[in-house]
Amino acid sequence: MDFQLTLAPMLERAGTLYPRVEIVSRRPDRSLHRCTYLDLALRVRTLAGALIAAGLQRGERVATLMWNHSVHLEAYFGVPLAGGVVHTLNLRLPPQQLAVIANHAGDRFLIVDDVLLPLLETFIRDARFERVFVHRSGQASSDHYEDYEALLKTAPDDGPLPQLNENDAAAMCYTSGTTGDPKGVVYSHRALVLHSLALAMADCFGVSHHDSVLPVVPMFHANAWGFPYVATLVGAKQVLPGPHLDAENLLDLCEREQVTLATGVPTVWMAVCAALDKSPRRWRLAPGLRLAVGGSAPAESLIRRFDAHNIRLIHAWGMTESTPIASICHLSPSLGEMSEDERYAIRAMQGTPVAFMEARVMSQGGAVPWDGKTMGEVQLRGPWVAASYFNLPELRDKWTEDGWLRTGDVVTVNEQGYLRIVDRTKDLIKSGGEWISSVDLENAIVGYAGIREAAVIAVPHPQWDERPVAVIVANEPKPKPEELNEFLAKRFAKWQLPDAYIFVEELPRTSTGKLLKSALRDRYRDYLNGRFSTA
Ligand code: AMP
Repeated sequence: MDFQLTLAPMLERAGTLYPRVEIVSRRPDRSLHRCTYLDLALRVRTLAGALIAAGLQRGERVATLMWNHSVHLEAYFGVPLAGGVVHTLNLRLPPQQLAVIANHAGDRFLIVDDVLLPLLETFIRDARFERVFVHRSGQASSDHYEDYEALLKTAPDDGPLPQLNENDAAAMCYTSGTTGDPKGVVYSHRALVLHSLALAMADCFGVSHHDSVLPVVPMFHANAWGFPYVATLVGAKQVLPGPHLDAENLLDLCEREQVTLATGVPTVWMAVCAALDKSPRRWRLAPGLRLAVGGSAPAESLIRRFDAHNIRLIHAWGMTESTPIASICHLSPSLGEMSEDERYAIRAMQGTPVAFMEARVMSQGGAVPWDGKTMGEVQLRGPWVAASYFNLPELRDKWTEDGWLRTGDVVTVNEQGYLRIVDRTKDLIKSGGEWISSVDLENAIVGYAGIREAAVIAVPHPQWDERPVAVIVANEPKPKPEELNEFLAKRFAKWQLPDAYIFVEELPRTSTGKLLKSALRDRYRDYLNGRFSTA
């Protein structure tokens, strides 16, 4: 049977089998908006009809500039069901970059939250949107632009929706740009459907209709890791936090909506864990709550601290180019008997590739042995891995000649096939011809009492080519370099220890919360030549 894998049957299933399951959204004024999958299915159809009536052609892009809420979810389905491509703009990017990205993507229409109009005003003159529709929450007003609800009213009654092909483009995101300018990645219907099935598998996140899912990851970052799609597919309740992403608001939502699965980057979970440590009995959370963590590696200590609250942190790895999930870390029977410390060490790894994701780890000499020591770049192939960037043919060498995506992540693989990221290719430190992992040093440094965060970077050195320098955020009293060296010397050879420890108030981050090491490298480029000045 020829059955096209598109988003349409996913939504229809939710509307038919789970008509009363709720989608709860936190409004900017903190009140909660509630609708159901039946409401969603009807409004998505209306949006798709209205976009077609507005002249949207197959494959054309409709941008969103929105927080996580039910209207954004409408666009996640409504734009693709109209034959268009939903392009989520990252509202944390600098305004100039937003205009460049919208123009590069060729976005024709924009749907924007009223609370984000001040941001829109900063770049609208440089962008080329034909029409802008404002989703009003009543928090801000503007007569400049069209009203989103008025757009919905233009939908013809029961107009036909286009016949979709599974290889049609459905969504688009730009990478968060830890290395260079953001690049556009386009997702087909098929990629999103298969990615959702993979996420739902028991050995992945096991998402089911019993779940109440809270995507803290913004819907403008790699499709909120695909959770709005998988939650719809299985008919799980969705809890969308709007602009309120602080620990107290998230924990209140978790308690009130009995969230069973939430997704976020380590920074979010660090704040949540600190709030729980401070008031362990304040929130009555659902038993068996799981927290998906990724985007960057969580410290092993964070996994332990959440275990003490009976909350399971599940670590996964991926990237915008892979929709994003590539691997997940669960303790499998193949690992055999292990001590408690060994179990935690494994859980902090990036884990094994999910079903249908193929990973190979390559160094200059070919595939690396599975010895847990030899480093190589991990390369990916799979049904939801992008085959190119949108309109950037000059970046073709991101893919190997035999069709694998070069991730830029350097890993080791243990005997059971568990991947452990030791660095980005661009962040590895080459000292006297030997590689040093900045991630290993960072993980060890944050284990020292009073150190909150650490970034280890390569700094040019006249004799050794590069040497590691640690940039640290710490409580008072700050540790002395000799104390840190003595602490690290238990695990690292002398030549691997940082040449310097620099204490700062905060570390630079990208719009999606990843450490921006390129900014630190620029800043401390001359540090070991004695030419650096803090002025
Ligand atoms: P992005 O496309 O913005 O999501 O960034 C993808 C990159 O984030 C990956 O190539 C990794 O370098 C990093 N990353 C994502 N997940 C993890 C993780 N669990 N541990 C370490 N790094 C990660």
